[in-house]
Amino acid sequence: CPWGAPNTTSISCSLADVMSEQLAKELQLEEENAAFPEVVAVAEGPFITGENVDTSSDLMLAQMLQMEFDREYDAQLRREEKKINGDSKVSISFENYRKVHPYDSDSSEDEVDWQDTRHDPYRADKPTTTPRKGFIGKGKDITTKHDEVVCGRKNTARMENFAPEFQVGDGIGMDLKLSNQVFNALKQHAYSEERRSARLHEKKEHSTAEKAVDPKTRLLLYKMVNSGMLETITGCISTGKESVVFHAYGGKSATEDKVIPPECAIKVFKTTLNEFKNRDKYIKDDYRFKDRFSKLNPRKIIRMWAEKEMHNLTRMQNAGIPCPQVVILKKHVLVMSFIGQDQVPAPKLKDVTLSSEDMKKAYYQVLNMMQQLYKECNLVHADLSEYNMLWHDGKVWLIDVSQSVEPTHPHGLEFLFRDCRNVSQFFQKGGVAEALNERELFNAVSGFNITADNEVDFQAEIEALEKMNEDHVQNHGKKLSMFSSDGDPPIYDE
Ligand code: ADP
Ligand code: MN
Repeated sequence: CPWGAPNTTSISCSLADVMSEQLAKELQLEEENAAFPEVVAVAEGPFITGENVDTSSDLMLAQMLQMEFDREYDAQLRREEKKINGDSKVSISFENYRKVHPYDSDSSEDEVDWQDTRHDPYRADKPTTTPRKGFIGKGKDITTKHDEVVCGRKNTARMENFAPEFQVGDGIGMDLKLSNQVFNALKQHAYSEERRSARLHEKKEHSTAEKAVDPKTRLLLYKMVNSGMLETITGCISTGKESVVFHAYGGKSATEDKVIPPECAIKVFKTTLNEFKNRDKYIKDDYRFKDRFSKLNPRKIIRMWAEKEMHNLTRMQNAGIPCPQVVILKKHVLVMSFIGQDQVPAPKLKDVTLSSEDMKKAYYQVLNMMQQLYKECNLVHADLSEYNMLWHDGKVWLIDVSQSVEPTHPHGLEFLFRDCRNVSQFFQKGGVAEALNERELFNAVSGFNITADNEVDFQAEIEALEKMNEDHVQNHGKKLSMFSSDGDPPIYDE
């Protein structure tokens, strides 16, 4: 109890310490703001690290619940505020007591940063500071910083700096004087209370490493569970550089016509921007996104990756290529059907040992899918390898298509060639004698007939084709190049 018998050893925390702690806090904040202006504004946190997967998801759920409790608390607070103020001209604001940070309480599209601009008539003026020399005044009017009355008043005024939930009473308006000893004991208690409350509510602005996803994402996920669309989010399946994937059991759809798969995968695109910077080249030159790219802020660009994955998956679905089925897209969170069963994701091709018969079957299926992808979906996967192909139900499923581009993308054919190299190497190493080499595969998928028999010349021809296409786009516009307008396979006209 702060009012208990004061003992001198407990006054270890001097005012100077507190002030310097505060200063340090401010300085750090300033530094962070300067170093990562965008990132800090977005307040995005790191994601699950892969360890403690269970506790992480429990933590996430607990935080969601906490958020809900806090919301209720705030609602109650608002009712009380209303009751107390009634029609009175002078009103008392409970704003400071709210538990949910305004950042989280508003889930609308693009939020204006919240500010409390109201004037609080009860706020005490800042106490005048005693200059360094330690006294003010002259002669017999001299007042030192140790003056009891001045100190007492200052101490009282300083109580204002305690956390808002710390009840100090309404002593500010009176001429209340607190002794240093009492003040220090109070202050210590106030600060430990503040730390406790910070731990409980996880200061939203300072994300910590333990946090699974940032508060905004957590809220999005929470809403999906709350609306009944998802039954439960069970845990994390994968943590990559650019995304975190969760498993969830599907719930009921709000609309009759849509069926939620019994098991879902939730792909959360990471909103920390570093990793996405080097992916610019995929999206910047994709004409589907060209007009929008320049005007976007980084957060929107990340949403665009999610959007891209959704569009590409839909195209593939329409062509009948085995791939996850899109359930819903919310900002940077994509919900799709789960490939696997009972929370166990289907293994990647790199992790599964197939019989030579299955291996051969898989190869022909992949060859087929690559052709379909190119000709029917007008897409190049651009990250195709044994890492992004799952083995499920006796066949290969393609995933991870956020970076996929159309073949007319300025680097589309290079991406295709890289895909061909990965696929060809994987199946040749896997003992499929029929597997085409990368150059043959490229021709088989694209319909070109590049005859170069070595990698360097082949690559050069690919780049020449891309260049030709670019020139064509410059002169004739997109529609005329490479494709006829009704979406037939590409034809280069010279
Ligand atoms: P990244 O860009 O991080 O590689 P992916 O889309 O490849 O993202 O997903 C990462 C991992 O998550 C995959 O390797 C796969 O194991 C798992 N995964 C992703 N989507 C699904 C899904 N629909 N069903 C089952 N597992 C999935
Ligand atoms: Mn992947």
